[in-house]
Amino acid sequence: MRLILLGPPGAGKGTQAQRLVERHGIPQLSTGDMLRAAVANGTEVGKKAKAIMDAGGLVSDDIVNQIVSDRIGEPDCAKGFVLDGYPRTLTQADSVEKMLAERGAPLDVVIELVVDDKILVSRIAKRAADAQAAGQPVRKDDNPDVFEERLRAYYKSTAPLIGYYHAKGLLRGVDGMAPIDDVTLAIEKLIA
Ligand code: AMP
Repeated sequence: MRLILLGPPGAGKGTQAQRLVERHGIPQLSTGDMLRAAVANGTEVGKKAKAIMDAGGLVSDDIVNQIVSDRIGEPDCAKGFVLDGYPRTLTQADSVEKMLAERGAPLDVVIELVVDDKILVSRIAKRAADAQAAGQPVRKDDNPDVFEERLRAYYKSTAPLIGYYHAKGLLRGVDGMAPIDDVTLAIEKLIA
């Protein structure tokens, strides 16, 4: 199963992706996690991405397309994967379509987590507070100013993907404001 989780930052894509990993044994391909790892390891990609990520902007299509292309060629992706936070632009969507066509393994579904963005700001503040309370590192881009910028980037560059995948007949919507377990159930129903 090859699927994309689409939705603004804080919509719960990471949480639901984790559950898909547990239930279906497919890897979660989070470009945000991959980029954070690159930053932590001080790689060339990490050096290019760090300032952009800290400011809440989007890292260049070339960089993320290359990361994903390398990753989906790995053996654990042979039986599928869940893309979390990628594609984020129409250029990336075209790129992943080509990558998958070359492998003869097209996308099965794109699941949009539909959320009320006024609530997202408080969700993100909670995510930061929870991480702090658990003694975990707090993401630099989980502060209100940077979050606003991430939200702007989403509406400008990523939201057009909703129409793009709708036109392809791949888009399914799920109420992302429902309790986490209900969201999981709704996703499971869609992919059953
Ligand atoms: P995320 O963990 O998905 O919220 O991503 C954190 C940050 O990484 C984003 O705010 C972007 O700066 C960068 N990023 C992650 N995925 C992408 C992508 N597909 N395209 C561009 N930038 C990305």
